[in-house]
Amino acid sequence: MNLIFLGQQGAGKGTFAQYISEKKGYVQIGAGDLLRAEINAESETGKKVKEIINAGKLVSDEIIAELVAKKIEKEKNKGIILDGFPRTLKQAELLEGILEKLNLKIKAVINFSVSDEITFERIGGRLNCKNCGKVFHKKFLPPKEEGKCDECGGDLITRDDDKREAIKQRLEAYKEQTKPLINFYKEKGLLKEFNAEPIFEELKPDFEKLIEEIENK
Ligand SMILES: [Zn+2]
Repeated sequence: MNLIFLGQQGAGKGTFAQYISEKKGYVQIGAGDLLRAEINAESETGKKVKEIINAGKLVSDEIIAELVAKKIEKEKNKGIILDGFPRTLKQAELLEGILEKLNLKIKAVINFSVSDEITFERIGGRLNCKNCGKVFHKKFLPPKEEGKCDECGGDLITRDDDKREAIKQRLEAYKEQTKPLINFYKEKGLLKEFNAEPIFEELKPDFEKLIEEIENK
């Protein structure tokens, strides 16, 4: 049972992936985590990746695909959930080659959808403590005293990344990249839409039902 999770920022696909991985013993494979692991291990690839990122450039689809391929090969006897990969049509094509070589198949692609307003609310509401880094949320996890960290009393700020204009830019880039990807999987008959607008706790039963449907297909 191998799955791909898609979804724009704030859709919570990482939360769903983590939840079902823990419950069912799947392995969650996130492209971002793999890149960070290489950098921390100071491997040859890690050093290359660090240079690219420090230069403000994007890590190529080939490098990401290579790391994902290694990880899939290692975990192929368990079910895998790809979270954050593929992100482009090019990556999806590279993934096809990886799976073919390992004689694996994707059983379904779940697209977790939310409106842009939900994205702005979930991401734009984040507050970070300037002092200790603890994360709060204006609506979902407000601090006891406005503007102050519960832990250390430090000032709470909105990171530049979480400001409306920055979120808007990331959303536009995401949509432009993933539209062809969504069509690619729709044409293969693999795409499942999942409305992720309500809060996670409310969605759990529907989500579990969907996973069971896919398992029994
Ligand atoms: Zn703090």
